[in-house]
Amino acid sequence: MVLDNDFKQAQRRVDELITLLDHYSHEYYVLDRPTIPDSEYDKLYQELLKLEEMYPTLVQQDSPSQRVGGTLLPGFEKVEHDLPMLSLDNAFDLDGLRAFDKRVRQLVDGEVEYECELKIDGLAVSLKYENGKLIRAVTRGDGRVGENVTGNVRSIKAVPLKLKRAVTIEARGEIYMPKSSFIQLNEEREEQGEAVFANPRNAAAGTLRNLNPQVTASRNLSVFLYSIVQYGDLNVETQSDALNSLDKLGLRTNPERTVFQSIEEVWTYIEEYQNKRTSLPYEIDGIVIKVNKFDNQEQAGYTVKAPRWAIAYKFPAEEAKTTVNEIEWSVGRTGVVTPTALMDPVHLAGTTVQRASLHNVDLIKEKDIRINDTVFVRKAGDIIPEVVRVDFDSRSKETEPCQIPTQCPACQSELVHLEDEVALRCVNPKCPAQAKERLIHFVSRNAMNIDGLGEKIIIQLFEKQLVQDVSDLYRLNKEDLLTLDKIADKSAENLLNAIKNSKDNSLEKLLFGLGIKHVGAKAARLLAEEYESIENIKRASLEDIQSIEGIGEIIAESIVAFFELEAAMDLIDKLKSFGINMTYTGVKRQATINTDSYFNDKTVVITGKLEHFKRNDLKEELTLLGANVTGSISKKTDLLIAGIDAGSKLDKAKELEVSIWDEKRLLKELSE
Ligand code: NAD
Repeated sequence: MVLDNDFKQAQRRVDELITLLDHYSHEYYVLDRPTIPDSEYDKLYQELLKLEEMYPTLVQQDSPSQRVGGTLLPGFEKVEHDLPMLSLDNAFDLDGLRAFDKRVRQLVDGEVEYECELKIDGLAVSLKYENGKLIRAVTRGDGRVGENVTGNVRSIKAVPLKLKRAVTIEARGEIYMPKSSFIQLNEEREEQGEAVFANPRNAAAGTLRNLNPQVTASRNLSVFLYSIVQYGDLNVETQSDALNSLDKLGLRTNPERTVFQSIEEVWTYIEEYQNKRTSLPYEIDGIVIKVNKFDNQEQAGYTVKAPRWAIAYKFPAEEAKTTVNEIEWSVGRTGVVTPTALMDPVHLAGTTVQRASLHNVDLIKEKDIRINDTVFVRKAGDIIPEVVRVDFDSRSKETEPCQIPTQCPACQSELVHLEDEVALRCVNPKCPAQAKERLIHFVSRNAMNIDGLGEKIIIQLFEKQLVQDVSDLYRLNKEDLLTLDKIADKSAENLLNAIKNSKDNSLEKLLFGLGIKHVGAKAARLLAEEYESIENIKRASLEDIQSIEGIGEIIAESIVAFFELEAAMDLIDKLKSFGINMTYTGVKRQATINTDSYFNDKTVVITGKLEHFKRNDLKEELTLLGANVTGSISKKTDLLIAGIDAGSKLDKAKELEVSIWDEKRLLKELSE
């Protein structure tokens, strides 16, 4: 009888878990908007597996344990995979890995080798090349059928359209968004009143599965390939051979991979990357461990959902608990009013966290965040603190839903909630908070880059009414600056010099600094390269602007609208009268890349002190000669340029047998 009861209870729980997991999977795979952390999903999924193991008759055909995650989006052509794209089983600790190791050793003959790779947190894609040409790119979808995203994938620069050899193969890998691009994208979206992405994976998925290829092209996606499923004429016997062959064909693989003989050694690799993960430029959520030899893989075989010869070790979620003390509302340069949670300081993944943007009102309501709540925080993209969820169990009865302001915290004018936006907005064009933020943006590094003109000085200048709009900066004199706190003779002179120097900036810096809606640093550069002067941009038609690769309809419309504004024209005239350069003085990148040069397609690292070059100039010069200049040495580096006192990079290059040149050798090659 007891058993009966247990069985019934288990049956109810299995039904409940399947409903819950399906609901979360829909949010994760279809909407690209998860509402619970992966660790929480994994816990529920493991609970389901356990129950199914205890009561095999409860395994339903549509259980998440019997099928691969995703659901297909309408709008894309559906393509059946020649070979299914599977998922991976998970392990969460050393015991789980030992159990995997034991299973593998029972299934295969002879010595087992494990190849460890980083588990890139993006979405899986399959790339088909015919005679060396990219002919098809398909998402994993439900594992059997995926979405044809070839048009979008073709716009990703890291995916070669042509391989170095005319082979016919199918390779699979992970499309991802680098952390820096994710952070920039979210900043831009928040500024424009758009919903932000929860993490780089969702941003990558939303970007790759966007029906407008221009959106994909305008965001910086990249790829790491990690397997071959159709080999063509490649002769490979192990996973590490396969990745090396992909490298040779010009397909991008992740260099941080190693082969080990035992699971204990695998564990040291896991620990190493657990420590390194926050400093990697892309997000990883674990380590994938694969049996290295293909004949052993065959012996191990597959379950319906995953290979038996591989496992994904998932890193524990890095979360901390703290209390929300206050919600601060601040106004950005475009008038978007953003809430920030001020919390008790808490240590999280290497830093102390006490502020987290709550992005917009919808998000506060959705997560039901209230003052005095205990909340879980984590870092989105390993960097940006984020409130994941409220610990409702410890909520006190007295808390009330958060008060949403109706007036601008800076100018008290009525706030509006525009129909197609998630943001609250102050639409008062004279709002002082917006004016201050516009100034801060104008002088920032990617814009006019005025050294020494920090936020504190800008606020003083504004409050003393010495500067109202950006053109007033060029009116300032020494006496004005000496009235400011902590500004003495020398620093006033330095500031005036920096302001003066900014007059000669190339056009893209000014364009970005003007804060035109949707025009980020990259779009500004594209426009400046294309039109070369502000006059030409002003004259350009919508169609003309839109025809620039990387500039879509939304950006183009915004540019045209900006140049129709009288206030914008007045500001540009004023800036002109102060002698601000309005032409492009940079080098035309695309047009002048010299593909015949020795450096074309080579990955080059520069290190040490240089006598004959400024580092940035050299970087630019090598880029124009077709090189890909990167910051760290890996197996993919072709050449290290070592100046004086070159340190660890030189050692690593020697270890990896990378070619090393000094400046003399470089000068010789360049003069040739
Ligand atoms: P998975 O992410 O656990 O592992 C399989 C995937 O890993 C592959 O498809 C591939 O895309 C990727 N991968 C990255 N690097 C790789 C490498 N070097 N070699 C091989 N594969 C590599 O499995 P899944 O089926 O894609 O997704 C399930 C996971 O998604 C869950 O464990 C959970 O964490 C998450 N999820 C979360 C929610 C949520 O609501 N938060 C909902 C559904 C799923």
